[in-house]
Amino acid sequence: MSQYERFYNFSAGPAALPLPALEEAARDLVCYPNAGASVLELSHRGKVIDGIIKEAEARLRRILNIPDNYYVMFLQGGATTQFSMVPVNFLSEDGTAVYMEQGTWSKKAIAEAKRVGNVEIAWSDKENNFTRVPADDEYEVRADAKYFHITSNETIHGVEFLRDPKSNGVPMVCDASSDFLGRPIDITKYALVYAGAQKNIGPAGVTVSILSDDFYKKLIDDDRRPIMMNYKTHVENKSLYNTCPVFAIYMVGLVLKWLEEEKGGIAGIYKENQAKAEMLYKAIDESNGFYRGHAAADSRSIMNVTWRTPSDDLDKEFAKEAEAHKMLGLKGHRSVGGIRASIYNATSLEAVEALVKFMAEFKNKH
Ligand SMILES: *Cc1c(COP(=O)(O)O)cnc(C)c1O
Repeated sequence: MSQYERFYNFSAGPAALPLPALEEAARDLVCYPNAGASVLELSHRGKVIDGIIKEAEARLRRILNIPDNYYVMFLQGGATTQFSMVPVNFLSEDGTAVYMEQGTWSKKAIAEAKRVGNVEIAWSDKENNFTRVPADDEYEVRADAKYFHITSNETIHGVEFLRDPKSNGVPMVCDASSDFLGRPIDITKYALVYAGAQKNIGPAGVTVSILSDDFYKKLIDDDRRPIMMNYKTHVENKSLYNTCPVFAIYMVGLVLKWLEEEKGGIAGIYKENQAKAEMLYKAIDESNGFYRGHAAADSRSIMNVTWRTPSDDLDKEFAKEAEAHKMLGLKGHRSVGGIRASIYNATSLEAVEALVKFMAEFKNKH
């Protein structure tokens, strides 16, 4: 086996990247065409990088149909920093924000909002250790809320909104870190959508935030707020207030190019993602109870598939044996246990086929 052989990658994040994007980046790493230097060595205020950032934004706007009255920002600090930025910009001490409690990541978002103002939980599935998302008639959002926060896909539990939930006219904020660009989303239904790149759209180091102009006008101005924590800084300076994460944005641009030119955009990749997820859930459902899925049937994520074997020991054995079969990243998150296969855009149908085959062999063996 070559030390450079690439395995099938089911890691949750940082996660698999499309090979053509990696190859192009590798080819141009030492010298970007006609630039005289590497992307890693050029000023973020120069012509080359400016072109790279503008092209990435234009592609993203095309792929997702983002209207002109939305700002697109390339930020640092991960989705976790967005957990803090959202309340410090849009929630006041006496104001209330409504949150959906869907799993580990939404709990962290809620904790950050509580530092700033009042939080009301619209719906929670905590008592079941987060196995589903609610239907629209199972929750209300109070009309005077500053915003309503949801997590489109709970990465750790493998529970996903495969629709745009209702928000009762309250500005809806969405942490889309783990399913951004994996399925259709109607941006006009949201006031703010943010996603750390390292799950589905690029490497760690950049976070995409898409903010509506209407919601931006509701930003609470406060001179005491650290300048980097202010959306106004990034809107006014078009993500170039300070040195932006140049290489991460460049990589996102390459992934967007692959998605648009080779995968047929959102419609094409969504079809493929559905086929991958179906194949995997079928293997779980038809295992005569050997594998048990975590998520309820109507809330199953098409990005992170979570399940268990008959015992904790076998769960561990599964991940270990899978790695010996050249499959990476199948151990479940420590807070849920079991097994998790992250099947983001860049994880191929062929990888999922290999996993399903391995699941059958593992079941017969044990
Ligand atoms: C990974 C993840 C986060 C945290 O992202 P960081 O970039 O590590 O801060 C937040 N929300 C969701 C849904 C995630 O999957």
